[in-house]
Amino acid sequence: MRKIIVQKFGGTSVADTEKIKNVAKIVIKEKENGNDVVVVVSAMGHTTDYLVKMAKDLTPNPSEREMDMLLSTGEGVSIALLAMAIQAQGYDAVSYNAMQIGIMTENKHSKARIVDIKTDKLRQNLKEGKIIVIAGFQGVTEDGEITTLGRGGSDTSAVALAAALNAERCDIYTDVEGVYTTDPRVVPNASKLKEISYEEMLELAHAGANVLHPRSVETAKLNNVPLRVRSSFKINNLGTLILGVDKMELNNPVAGVAQDLSQARIVVCDVPDKPGVAAKLFSKLANENISVDMIIQSYARKVSNTNDIAFTVDKTDVAKTVSALNLLKEEIGATGQIEVDENISKVSIVGAGMIDRPGVASLMFETLAQQNVNIRMISTSEIKISCLVDKDQSLKAVKALHEAFHLDSNEIADVKGDLPNL
Ligand code: ASP
Ligand code: MG
Repeated sequence: MRKIIVQKFGGTSVADTEKIKNVAKIVIKEKENGNDVVVVVSAMGHTTDYLVKMAKDLTPNPSEREMDMLLSTGEGVSIALLAMAIQAQGYDAVSYNAMQIGIMTENKHSKARIVDIKTDKLRQNLKEGKIIVIAGFQGVTEDGEITTLGRGGSDTSAVALAAALNAERCDIYTDVEGVYTTDPRVVPNASKLKEISYEEMLELAHAGANVLHPRSVETAKLNNVPLRVRSSFKINNLGTLILGVDKMELNNPVAGVAQDLSQARIVVCDVPDKPGVAAKLFSKLANENISVDMIIQSYARKVSNTNDIAFTVDKTDVAKTVSALNLLKEEIGATGQIEVDENISKVSIVGAGMIDRPGVASLMFETLAQQNVNIRMISTSEIKISCLVDKDQSLKAVKALHEAFHLDSNEIADVKGDLPNL
């Protein structure tokens, strides 16, 4: 049986018609390798940002339904152009939007999850030898409403399609050459990783590494879809392969460092210290579809029997969060203020190799202390430690941690197999 390869091209890879021609060549090459090819594309260049800007020019709070109507148009343009570019090379291609195929999502605007993908039509088209070009980022509900998956969601569309079609592999073509130990624009001697596990990639994506949409990694992990991140401009470079942790050799406790400047810290002050308060607070936010990341509840003050609950949310959700909290304040008996701080950054170190290896957290804190960086919040998972720091100290923190954990390119090559002395 022929193998199916799903390829995904991001906005920069299809930014103009010359670049679309380049993408058509990459697609055709894969077809010529004897594979069936399904291509997922994002909107051209900064189209989505431009659409968002137009909406905000009209109203600060556009309705989420209309936003989805608007934003889904971006991908409609790129799929048709790419299909034409492939046809112009003499190959049979067809483009589809999410409604035409049935990329079914839950009924939530602006960050819907894919629940099912109909594959009959796709399989039939592949059998007929067609190259299929599909609009990323969008979906449709059972009622026929158009949804989007959240910014950067085309990666998730691609992986979900790969899973539904039982594809051999999903290649994410982008403007970087793979996954790096940290953003190479921030730390120039960051090294490119040949492999990284789903688990680590997931944590890095959540920690602010912008390479992949976090849900795409989650979906890949769940369905065991091998994922490759590679450059559409250097196609001989194989990029980074993302796979199960069981298939990897872990040489270093830390695989990467990331910073996330997209969050804001909210503090609800003087909340009564009694059962049910946190439950009420966070279920209210969940009902509003606001995702919360770090959470800290302070130690209860004996005299007042109150504490403070601090957490972080995406900056885009701040207004929604504050109005939800204002409504809730009385009900939970909070007597203090609601404080918002947008000048923060979450700096994280991630590595499956840190499991059961003591000293990783202390090295992180020592490194930050040496740089005189104040830590405002800390959160950990099995393979990640995140510290919330002031925004203007973020860069310094990332650079120092990258060095402290021996992630610079030369050192990695030299110490292969050896653990840094922690
Ligand atoms: N065009 C959408 C965005 O800019 C989806 C994507 O690029 O993945 O967020
Ligand atoms: Mg993207």
